[in-house]
Amino acid sequence: MTPHPASNNGSTLLPCETDVLIVGAGITGIYQLYRALEAGFSAQLVEAGEGVGGTWYWNRYPGARFDSESYTYAYLFSKELFEDWEWKEHFAEQPEIERYLNHVVDRFDLRRYLRLGARVTSAVYNDPDRSWTVTAGDGTVVQTQFLIASTGVLSVPHFPDVSGRENFRGEQYHTGLWPATPVDFAGKRVAVIGTGSSGVQLIPAIAGQVASLTVYQRTANWCTPLNNGPITSDQQARLRADFETLRHTLSTSSHGFLHRPHDRATFDDPVEQRRAFYQEMWSSPGFSKLTSNYTDLLFDEAANTEWCDFIADKVRSIVKDPDTAERLIPKDHHFGEHRPPFVTGYYEVYNQPNVSLVDLKQTPIERMTETAVETTEGRRDFDIVVWATGFDFGTGALMRMGIRGRAGLALDQYWAEGPRTFLGLQTAGFPNLFFPGGPHAAAGNNPRYNSDQVDFIMETLRYVRDHGYQAIEVDPAAEERWTNMVDRGATRAPSFGESSYYFGTNIPGKPRKYLLNSGGRPKLFKEIGRVVENDYKAFRLSRSGPSAALRPSRPASTENRRLQAAGGAAQ
Ligand SMILES: Cc1cc2nc3c(=O)[nH]c(=O)nc-3n(C[C@H](O)[C@H](O)[C@H](O)COP(=O)(O)OP(=O)(O)OC[C@H]3O[C@@H](n4cnc5c(N)ncnc54)[C@H](O)[C@@H]3O)c2cc1C
Repeated sequence: MTPHPASNNGSTLLPCETDVLIVGAGITGIYQLYRALEAGFSAQLVEAGEGVGGTWYWNRYPGARFDSESYTYAYLFSKELFEDWEWKEHFAEQPEIERYLNHVVDRFDLRRYLRLGARVTSAVYNDPDRSWTVTAGDGTVVQTQFLIASTGVLSVPHFPDVSGRENFRGEQYHTGLWPATPVDFAGKRVAVIGTGSSGVQLIPAIAGQVASLTVYQRTANWCTPLNNGPITSDQQARLRADFETLRHTLSTSSHGFLHRPHDRATFDDPVEQRRAFYQEMWSSPGFSKLTSNYTDLLFDEAANTEWCDFIADKVRSIVKDPDTAERLIPKDHHFGEHRPPFVTGYYEVYNQPNVSLVDLKQTPIERMTETAVETTEGRRDFDIVVWATGFDFGTGALMRMGIRGRAGLALDQYWAEGPRTFLGLQTAGFPNLFFPGGPHAAAGNNPRYNSDQVDFIMETLRYVRDHGYQAIEVDPAAEERWTNMVDRGATRAPSFGESSYYFGTNIPGKPRKYLLNSGGRPKLFKEIGRVVENDYKAFRLSRSGPSAALRPSRPASTENRRLQAAGGAAQ
């Protein structure tokens, strides 16, 4: 074992050995650390960034904010914490979220267990003593029994392969790698490339400051209003008073929001009633357009199309130039097929004389030069180019961590054709490795199902400890069952036709596999219940002696072959 460097941003010297090593100080990793310490395990956390917050540390671009209601996204494990943090807005902005996560770290005295500025580059399983040796770029080497990678699904920013990008002499930023010092947009000629959830938050936030703003859009998205606002003192009081009900609802609902599901299908209502309901949805907060909409929205193409037509008419009524409005209306996918972005004043900016829209499907980017972006339409000169081009979703961070399991099995090899998991938190051949908040977790309000996974991991680690085991590894059959469930579910609606980053198709060469859990949170709950009921039969537990020989990467099952032949998780 290599001794640790003696300093870590002023915190205490970390011991060399630990029961639990957590990677990633986002909302999942911080909770995991709290839970591990609470359960009496020794624990440490390493994080690549120089601060805590994960998503909310890296994505500090103007306009970055929650699309989940602040109090539904925040931690629920402590009533006192819930009461002593008053969110200012229903959908808080990035600085407030980052402050909150720092507050949690300090309030629960977690900072002394953190090593910041340490990107893990290698994690190797040692079969004889059933431990992991984890190495980070800053020289940190830690030997741990359990390795918990809470490395996030949206933590590896993606830059498209544009020739000459490195030659551009102006300023370049990625929304997911935003600098700590504010960027000065005043009077600048700015390009924003990408109109996903981040791009459409950023664009209205800077459109009033810049000399000119050119938006390069590859895929138009179904953007609907966030409908944000301050939380009044009456609402604050009600949130406090309702804490237990709120916690119960958020801990049990299928999507992890407070939104009430609707009880009617689209064509149960006559057309005038449907129009009135769509208007109600348009004025409702955030994700409720998905979670409180007609029950068949994601299962009936005609129903979905009618809601899309309503949004399209809204866009036409806001954007004055008909040609621009048409280019902003998606033609290639339905609502909910991509992650729906939520906006404040987004469509309105296209009425400003200094804002223009370039459709990259009609006129693709050919190259960047020292001063310009060149498309097949021509060149435009810029002072600043912002890449709002998303992330290597789901598997990106795990595949880059140099993870090697039993007998040197490399995770990036084992998952070469897509992730294989059980409950979205373990994979066969990698004992004592867990990855809450990774691929195949669930879908919905992210911290809610990530904390379900953390709670289950803690229950599992206690089980291992209390029964005197040293290692736990998912049974390949359980992994196959879960992975097939995810793949099969992804062949059903709402995948009416197009693709999205949910399938990894934004990354060239990435296998087209569904990266969320198509069974959602209910399936996660059900399977966790079954594991506990069946006394962890879905896992292999071992005490000592030589562990099972390396199981070679299995050929695809019949079911997987069928899916692959049909084009992966075919739509
Ligand atoms: C702009 C934006 C807005 C979002 N808004 C919402 C929302 O409103 N609601 C919602 O539910 N979800 C939202 N999400 C999804 C969001 O990612 C999750 O809500 C949540 O932040 C995930 O937390 P996490 O701790 O699992 O991962 P992250 O917050 O991504 O944290 C992972 C951490 O792991 C670190 N890490 C990764 N690899 C390594 C390594 N090799 N070594 C060391 N450290 C490493 C990263 O630096 C990062 O800090 C949003 C995402 C983005 C990008």
